[in-house]
Amino acid sequence: MSQNSDELAKTLQEISEKSGVKIEKFRGGQIYGWLVKGVYSFDEMLNVPKSIKNVLDEYCFLALPQIEKKLVSKIDGTVKYLFRLHDGEFVESVFMRYEHGNTICVSTQVGCRMGCTFCASTLTGLTRNLYPSEILGQVIAAMRDMGERISNIVMMGIGEPLDNYDNVMKFLELVNDEKGVNIGHRHISLSTCGLCDKIRQLADEKKQITLSLSLHASDAETRKKLMPVARKYDLDELIESCRYYINKTGRRISFEYAMIAGENDSHAHAERLGNLLSGMICHVNLIPLNDVKERSYTKSSKKAIEDFVKILEKKHITATVRRKLGSDINASCGQLRAENESK
Ligand code: SAH
Repeated sequence: MSQNSDELAKTLQEISEKSGVKIEKFRGGQIYGWLVKGVYSFDEMLNVPKSIKNVLDEYCFLALPQIEKKLVSKIDGTVKYLFRLHDGEFVESVFMRYEHGNTICVSTQVGCRMGCTFCASTLTGLTRNLYPSEILGQVIAAMRDMGERISNIVMMGIGEPLDNYDNVMKFLELVNDEKGVNIGHRHISLSTCGLCDKIRQLADEKKQITLSLSLHASDAETRKKLMPVARKYDLDELIESCRYYINKTGRRISFEYAMIAGENDSHAHAERLGNLLSGMICHVNLIPLNDVKERSYTKSSKKAIEDFVKILEKKHITATVRRKLGSDINASCGQLRAENESK
């Protein structure tokens, strides 16, 4: 499925020529300013004359995602949004408050075709890619709704960002614009299930973003069982591409490891993980599995997780257990959309 924003993108000059209505150059800056603030209609663009607003209405549409549902955690203030896109599709984003600033977890696709066996986002496959503006739109819509600045972004919502590579790169460019939301690449993480060729391509772009790699297993067999993508790219190839990424960018990789009872959480798994990552500039994030009702796996015990951390530490690998935010609102991605679909 190829889909990019080019067919929709029009310059103001093109719109001016098509419509025969004169649009002065400086209007571009004004209009851009409103788009960055987040508007749902051209009428909200207060300093733009009606004649131009009418033309914009006719030739363009505003892709800012609409809030279909909003859940606020009573425990920690985490906010989960179900956004409706212009074509009636849905994606999710999660707004989280951390000491280092407000963070949003955004989706990059409607659905996902990677098929990880523990994940809710992939239950009904991939519907379509998100446009760069729709990824950015989640950030802008959440900032507008919260009335607060967002300083960090993680691409860990619905979808596989590297399966929508060009639009994600374009999004990274847009989000970094000084006159736009102006979020630096050092404050952005991209999470992937491990598309090796794309990891290498990303490394060559030499961006300052953080790469999170959803590893979830330390041996080829377990990984293949949990993640179909591992049948295409084997574990050795994956680790090679991670080393390539670190060498090219000088950035450490954050390895995500969902702790699943009886599947990947034994002492032997921990030992193997330590050996696999030995000598790499990296960090391991252990995530007690979120229960997904359509999936049969359950989270590891506290003891299994503690032991796992100890074994990694002995092997000089830093590991932390991810603090769970928004546990009362089912804040792990994909679940709200799946629920909505089944209605
Ligand atoms: N496709 C990308 C990003 C989206 S998923 C990726 O695979 O990295 C974001 C993270 O949540 C991934 O690490 C994913 O493996 C993890 N995840 C998915 N379902 C989960 C579950 N039920 N419990 C814990 N983590 C889960």
